[in-house]
Amino acid sequence: MNESRREFDLAVIGAGPGGCACALAAARGGLRVALLDPRPEADDRPCGEGMMPEGAASLASLGLQDLLARGRAFRSLRFFLGGEPLLEVPLPAPAVAIPRPELLRSLDAALSREPKVLRVRSAARVQRNGRFEVRAGDGRVLAADALAVADGGGGRALEGLREGATPRRFGLRARYEEARPLESVEIHLGGGVEVYLTPLPGGIVNAAFLFSRAPSGARGPEDLARRALERHPAARARLGEMRTPPQGRTLGLPRPRAIAADRAFLVGDATGGVDPIVGCGVTIALRTGIAAAESALALRGGMDFAPAERRHEEAVRREVLGRRRVAGLLLRLADRPPLARGAASLLRRMPGLLARLARVAAGT
Ligand SMILES: Cc1cc2nc3c(=O)[nH]c(=O)nc-3n(C[C@H](O)[C@H](O)[C@H](O)COP(=O)(O)OP(=O)(O)OC[C@H]3O[C@@H](n4cnc5c(N)ncnc54)[C@H](O)[C@@H]3O)c2cc1C
Repeated sequence: MNESRREFDLAVIGAGPGGCACALAAARGGLRVALLDPRPEADDRPCGEGMMPEGAASLASLGLQDLLARGRAFRSLRFFLGGEPLLEVPLPAPAVAIPRPELLRSLDAALSREPKVLRVRSAARVQRNGRFEVRAGDGRVLAADALAVADGGGGRALEGLREGATPRRFGLRARYEEARPLESVEIHLGGGVEVYLTPLPGGIVNAAFLFSRAPSGARGPEDLARRALERHPAARARLGEMRTPPQGRTLGLPRPRAIAADRAFLVGDATGGVDPIVGCGVTIALRTGIAAAESALALRGGMDFAPAERRHEEAVRREVLGRRRVAGLLLRLADRPPLARGAASLLRRMPGLLARLARVAAGT
C-alpha cells in the first residue's frame, strides 16, 4: 500500500473486534482500507470474552479457525437466582470463549497480511468534506469514500452522530483461577449486581460484575468485586485466586441518531449496543463489522446510497433488537425473584419458547 497516496475506499475508525472484522472483510472484497486506532497490540480493556455461536461463525468466515481451536467451547447459559439454579438455556451450536488480547492479536496478524490495509496506530477525527477526511493524531490526513465508525461506546470520532449517554449501569471485569470446573457460562442474578462467569482456556474464569447503578462509597474496583461476590456466594465458590485485577467501564451507551447515513456505517458498540447481561457484544461487533464491509462493497459495486444504508440498518436491527428485549426482560426479572421463578418454570414447560430465546442469544 502506497502511504503517500492517502486515498481509500473505506476508512475504519476503531480496531476493536468490530473495526478489525470490518477492515478484514472489506480488504478481502477488494477495497483499499485505512484502519485507525491508538490501542496497543494486546489491548485488554474490560470486556467479556464469551462469543456466541454466530460470533464464532464470523471468525471462521474470516479464516481464524486456529484461534477458534484455541478457545474454550461452551454449550449453554446457566442462570442462578439467590444462589439457586434458575434455568439452563442450551445453545443451538457451540459458543467459544477467547481472551480479548488473543482475539485482537489474531485479528491484527490477519490484517497485517492484507496488502490493501493501512493500519495507523493513532486516534482519528473525521470531517465530511464531500468525501470523508480522516485526521489522525500523528498529523496524517486520509481521504475515504465510505466510513465505518467502530470506536466503541464512548467514541467521539464523528461528532453529531450520537445522543448523550445514560450511564446508569456500571461494569467491572476481572479474571480468576477456576476453583471448580465450569461447564457453561453462569449468570448469577439478583442483589443489584449480576455476576457473569465465562470459562476461559487454561483453567481461568472471566468474571464480569454488572451493577444496576454506578456504585458510590466503594474503596476502589477490588472492593466492588469483593462486595459483588459477597452477594453471590455460589459464584464465589467457582473462583480461586484473582489473576487480573478488576477494571471498570460505564455501560450506558449513547444511542445514535442513525445507524447509517451519508456513506457512514456504525459498527458494534457504536450502534448503541446491548447490555452485557446477554453476553453478545463481541458477536454483535463482529457481525455488524462484516455487514458494514458488505455495504461498503455494495456501494463500490454501484449500489445507490439509500439501499446500501438501509441494508446496513436492517443488519444492525437483526443483531440488536431481539437481544435488547431479552436484556431488558432479564434485568427486570433479576429484581423480582417470584416473577423470575415463575417465568423460568414456564420456559421449562415450553421448550419451543426456550429454544427461541436461545436462538436470539446465539444470533442464529
Ligand atoms: C464488564 C463487561 C463485560 C462484558 N461481557 C461481555 C461478554 O461476556 N460477551 C460479549 O460478547 N461482550 C461483552 N461485553 C461487551 C463487549 O466487550 C463489547 O460489546 C465489544 O468490545 C464491542 O466491540 P467494538 O469493536 O464495538 O468496540 P471496542 O471493543 O470498545 O473497541 C473500540 C475501539 O475504538 C478505539 N477508538 C475509540 N475512539 C477512537 C478514535 N477517535 N480513533 C480511533 N480509534 C478509536 C478504541 O481504542 C477501541 O480499540 C462486556 C463489556 C463489559 C464492559
